[in-house]
Amino acid sequence: NDMYKRNVWVIGHKNPDTDSICSALGYAALKGEGYAAGRLGNVNPETQFVLDHFGVAAPELLGNMAGQEIILVDHNEAAQSADGIEEAKILEILDHHKIGGLKTSEPILFCNVPVGCTATIVNMFYKQQGKTPDAKTAGLLCSAILSDSLAFRSPTCTAVDKATALELAEIAGIADVEA
Ligand code: MN
Ligand code: MN
Repeated sequence: NDMYKRNVWVIGHKNPDTDSICSALGYAALKGEGYAAGRLGNVNPETQFVLDHFGVAAPELLGNMAGQEIILVDHNEAAQSADGIEEAKILEILDHHKIGGLKTSEPILFCNVPVGCTATIVNMFYKQQGKTPDAKTAGLLCSAILSDSLAFRSPTCTAVDKATALELAEIAGIADVEA
């Protein structure tokens, strides 16, 4: 498929949640030209609310990714990823889950940090590159953290997640994060 070939696809897991959609959008935006966010399933109502709120279109719905170049966010296990992943070229993985056994044929950037949300890690990469997400992207990433952390109430939520969400909220112009 020619459309697929134009991009490196940044994709979250199947049955995508808000982190999988928003971290894919946020990381594709940081990577820039030649990178696009994709998704492996329908957008759930919570995520659709977030996309509508910030006026951002959903990532492209993707199918079999054999032969494609891909970056995985919010997962690192083949069973949770795209059909055809065994024949895809994984360039990078950004995740916050247990390590689940994917193998690659070449060295890759594999950044797994035990924080509460992949969006927190995406923001680390913005900082590492001296960049700031635009207001819409900051809103998406903030929403992902609120979603994965159950508004900071989840035991998996770290101080870094909360500080990141509050920082992103300010960029996004969100006055009351929990509201
Ligand atoms: Mn997820
Ligand atoms: Mn997540």
